[in-house]
Amino acid sequence: MYWADKIAKEIVASKKHKPYWVDDMKTPSGFAHVGSIRGPLIHSVIYRALKGITKDKIVYTFVFNDFDPADEFPPEFKEKLSDYAGFPLKKVPSPQKGFKSLGDLLSDDLKDSMQSLGVEAEFVSSWDLYQEGKFDGVIREALDSADKIQYVYQKVSGSRKKEQGWLPFQVICENCGKLGTTRVFGWDGKEVSYKCEPNMVSWAKGCGHEGKISPFGGTGKLPWKVDWAAHWKVIGVTIEAAGKDHASAGGSYDIALTLCDEVFKFPRPFNFGYEFFLIGGKKMSSSKGLGLKAHDLVKILPPELGRFLFTRTDYKQQINFDPMGTMAIPDLFDEYDKCWQTFVEGSDEDIGRAFVLAQIKAVPEKTKLFLTRFREVAQVIQMPNADPKTYFEEKKGSKLSVREKEILEERIKYAKVWLEQYAPEEVKFGVATGVAKTQGKLSSEFYRKLTKEIESASSPEELEKGLYQLIKESGFTSKEVFGELYLLLIGKPFGPKLAWLIWENKDKAVKLFKEASK
Ligand SMILES: [Zn+2]
Repeated sequence: MYWADKIAKEIVASKKHKPYWVDDMKTPSGFAHVGSIRGPLIHSVIYRALKGITKDKIVYTFVFNDFDPADEFPPEFKEKLSDYAGFPLKKVPSPQKGFKSLGDLLSDDLKDSMQSLGVEAEFVSSWDLYQEGKFDGVIREALDSADKIQYVYQKVSGSRKKEQGWLPFQVICENCGKLGTTRVFGWDGKEVSYKCEPNMVSWAKGCGHEGKISPFGGTGKLPWKVDWAAHWKVIGVTIEAAGKDHASAGGSYDIALTLCDEVFKFPRPFNFGYEFFLIGGKKMSSSKGLGLKAHDLVKILPPELGRFLFTRTDYKQQINFDPMGTMAIPDLFDEYDKCWQTFVEGSDEDIGRAFVLAQIKAVPEKTKLFLTRFREVAQVIQMPNADPKTYFEEKKGSKLSVREKEILEERIKYAKVWLEQYAPEEVKFGVATGVAKTQGKLSSEFYRKLTKEIESASSPEELEKGLYQLIKESGFTSKEVFGELYLLLIGKPFGPKLAWLIWENKDKAVKLFKEASK
C-alpha cells in the first residue's frame, strides 16, 4: 500500500485523532529552500489520502511562525536589515515593496510556491493568533507550569537544568522593540517582569531596559518548543509530522509532544518524522542561501512534476535531487512518464498512486497518450529548422491529439528553462553553423554516398537505416563517423539523434557534406 494511504488508514483506525486536523508550520526566516516543501507536501498527500477513505471533515492548516525573532537574515537583505536583528519577523520592515513586513514577504513567497504545487492548506499567521488573544490561555498554563516545563526539557532531551526562576516566555521590549533579547524573570499571575539583555544572544544586542507587562494579547510569545505544543492546542491539531532534524529522539518534537501530555493536557497529535531532502547529497539551509529555493522549483518544473518529486518517495527515505548541470530533470520526467503509463495500465497500485497524488487538477483519464520524451524535446528544439510538432507526429506515425499537443507545448517551455539554466554542457548544442572543420577522417567517397542517401531517403527512419548500412560498408567505425559528422554539423563531437538532425537540416547538411567531399 502507498505510504500515505497506510498512514491515513492508521489514523482513521485509531479513532484517536478526530476531528481530522492536519497541520504543518514553518518560521519564515529566509526564502525557503526546496526541502522546506517536503513537509507541506507530505501533509497535503496525507490530507488527500484521508479524504479518499472518510467522509468526515478534514482541515489542513499551515502556520507561519511569523512572531519568531529574526535571528538571521537572507544574505541579500543582511546589510539593510541589520538593525532589526532580534525583532519579531512581523515587525521587521519589508526590504521589498508590496509587503508590510519581512515576515509577510517570506511567508508569501513560500505560500505561492506551495499553492502552485497544489497544497490545500489554509494559511495561519502565528502573530495574528497571539494578537487576537487566542494564546492567552496556554500562556497562563505555561507560565504557571514553568518548573514542569523545565523538568520535561531535562527529562526528554537530557539538557541541564535551566536557571532558577526561568520562565517560558519572551516579551517584546517596550523600549527597543526586540523580542529575541528579553529574559522574563518574574510572574505574579498578572504581569511578567523582564530585562532586555545586552549579551544574552550572539545575534542581537538588548538595550538593558527593565519592565513589567501583561503577557497576554500579543505582548510576547512562548519559546518555540513550548510554542509548538501550544499551537496544537490553540488550533486543535490532531495530525502533524515533523522533519528528521526536529524529530530525532530527545529533540524538539519529542519535547513538544511530551508537553502536550504533561503541561497542556491535550492529546498528542498523530506524529511521525520524515527524512531529509538533499541537494547533491547535502542538506540545505534557507538562511545560508545554499541550494535550490522553493520558488525556483516551481519555475523549472511543471507543477505536477514538482509534486511528483515528493510523492514518488516514501517519507522514510531521503530525497536527493541535484538538477545543476545534471540529467536529474530529464530523469524525473522519464520516471513521471513511466508512472503515468503504469497508472493507465493499472499494473502497479503504489506507482499509480504516486502519479495520482502528484496531480494538481483533475486526475487524467486512463487513456494511452503519446508522451513526448522531455530529453528528446530538448534536443529537437535545438535543431534550427525543426518543428517539434511535425517531428513528434512523424515519430508517432499520426497526428498528436489536443492533449498530446498541450503536453508537448508545456515540455517545450520547461526544456528551454532547463537548457538555459541547468542542462549539462554536453547536451547543449548550437545552430548548425558549419564553422567547424572536418578532421578529414572520412573519405570523399563516404560523403558522396551519404549525400545520395540523404537525397533519396523519404523519412528520417529510412535515412538512419541507410546511414548504418553505409557505415558498415565503409569500414569506418560508427564512432568515427558520428564524431566527424556531429563536428561538422554542430561543432561538437556529440549531439541529438544523427539521422533526425540531418533530416531537419537537410539542405544545410547536404551543402556541408558536399563541401567536405571535395
Ligand atoms: Zn530593549
